[in-house]
Amino acid sequence: PATEERASKQKSRGEDRAVTPRSLDFNAWYLDVIEHAELADYGPVRGTMVIRPYGYAIWEAIQDFLNVKFKETGHSNMYFPQLIPYSFIEKEASHVEGFSPELAVVTIGGGKELEEKLVVRPTSETIVNHMFTQWIHSHRDLPLMINQWANVTRWEMRTKPFIRTLEFLWQEGHTAHATPEEAEKEALQMIDVYTKFAYEQAAIPVIAGRKSKVERFAGADRTYTIEAMMGDRKALQAGTSHNLGQNFSRAFGTQFTDEIGNRQHVWQTSWAISTRFVGGIIMTHGDDTGLMLPPRLAPIQVIVIPIYKKADEKSGVLSAASSVKEALQSAGVKVKLDDSDQRTPGWKFNFWEMKGVPLRIEIGPRDVSSGSVVVSRRDIPGKEGKVFGISMEPAVLEAYVKDKLDEIQSSLLQRAKLFRDRNIVDVSSYDELKQAISQGKWARGPWSASDQEELRVKEETGATIRCFPFDQPEDIKTCLMTGNPASEVAVFAKSY
Ligand code: AMP
Repeated sequence: PATEERASKQKSRGEDRAVTPRSLDFNAWYLDVIEHAELADYGPVRGTMVIRPYGYAIWEAIQDFLNVKFKETGHSNMYFPQLIPYSFIEKEASHVEGFSPELAVVTIGGGKELEEKLVVRPTSETIVNHMFTQWIHSHRDLPLMINQWANVTRWEMRTKPFIRTLEFLWQEGHTAHATPEEAEKEALQMIDVYTKFAYEQAAIPVIAGRKSKVERFAGADRTYTIEAMMGDRKALQAGTSHNLGQNFSRAFGTQFTDEIGNRQHVWQTSWAISTRFVGGIIMTHGDDTGLMLPPRLAPIQVIVIPIYKKADEKSGVLSAASSVKEALQSAGVKVKLDDSDQRTPGWKFNFWEMKGVPLRIEIGPRDVSSGSVVVSRRDIPGKEGKVFGISMEPAVLEAYVKDKLDEIQSSLLQRAKLFRDRNIVDVSSYDELKQAISQGKWARGPWSASDQEELRVKEETGATIRCFPFDQPEDIKTCLMTGNPASEVAVFAKSY
């Protein structure tokens, strides 16, 4: 039925139909932006998604940045097979419990029933440990620090493009260490890499912290997370880093001989960011006009649009426009010239605004004669964001454009921070928590209650503990639920 509904909706869609206003229906807005900005489309199988070139380019920008960071922090990329023997998944008790409802299982291969069922990887801890066991012998083989860029499959019941799909792209880091301290340091280091990436590249002011026992990864001793507030104030778990302790090394016999000749199980971590992050960018910065991309992750940072009416204006305008494009390109700016004849300048303005391009440069006949251009900011609507008479002189224009891109980058972060902070309420009782959640806000309060109490909050309010933030207030607290002493605050919110 959902598919039919979508098909009939698609039929009634004119090419230039506007995006549903964000304030009217956030979900419809989100799906409209994905469609109109040409980020992704639905796959034929429920919950699957085709990532279109523009959406993929955002993912590539994420990859480009993180890949460098992972190498700087000592990791090497490699690749493991997607098919995993079913028995592997069963080896770690809480892992199989957590993942079995979401497994896609292959039972037939080449037309024959398989002797052992195979799992399409939902995550790779098991197969990684199977191999680590063969590669790790002595303390000299440690630490072993790898990462893979891959697709994973989880048979999710509720799905949403980018945010939760049956198959998604991600990177998964896997490391093995000689001591628990080293593993803990690594898990923290990687959540810090993610946090800085979110703030500095995506302009998303995430809250980093530790997951509660109830919410942590199946098979982890500790899970660290970055939690982002979307435009509808729901939380998005945007990346996780797990301290796996010895859970998998014990299950798979991953051992090393230490410096004094004793056999020990390795201490491990794993950490991941997925294509979900693209959804996080859309839902953090987008507005009624469509997508709004942070300059550092935008596939196109500047769109150049030539404007002319008469045939004799065309060649002058086009040649000025391409010189501007060339100049910016050689200065390392990601720039595109939209010189197609099929569309009017007005249509192009709307289209590239929809696609979230941070800066627009217009060049008309008068600009050509004055040697200047008009620059508009995507993040400041209408006339306000428009500046006339910026010199076309390459050095001047380059400096101006780079400066503006930096300004937009920090302004998006600032705006998202203000929004986040306006929507987090400090609470000291369960009543206050319930009130904050019912107003659609996040609640932050001291917590030392049981897992049962945590589940009760979820049942009664729909909110979960997103994390115990690393940033903690200093004063002494009593648990908002029980009144017992509490040593830390937790953040509660409804989430995707
Ligand atoms: P996990 O291995 O469960 O810790 O997941 C790692 C990260 O992948 C999470 O923090 C999410 O950001 C992301 N993720 C988990 N499930 C999905 C999904 N079904 N679709 C897209 N991203 C996902």
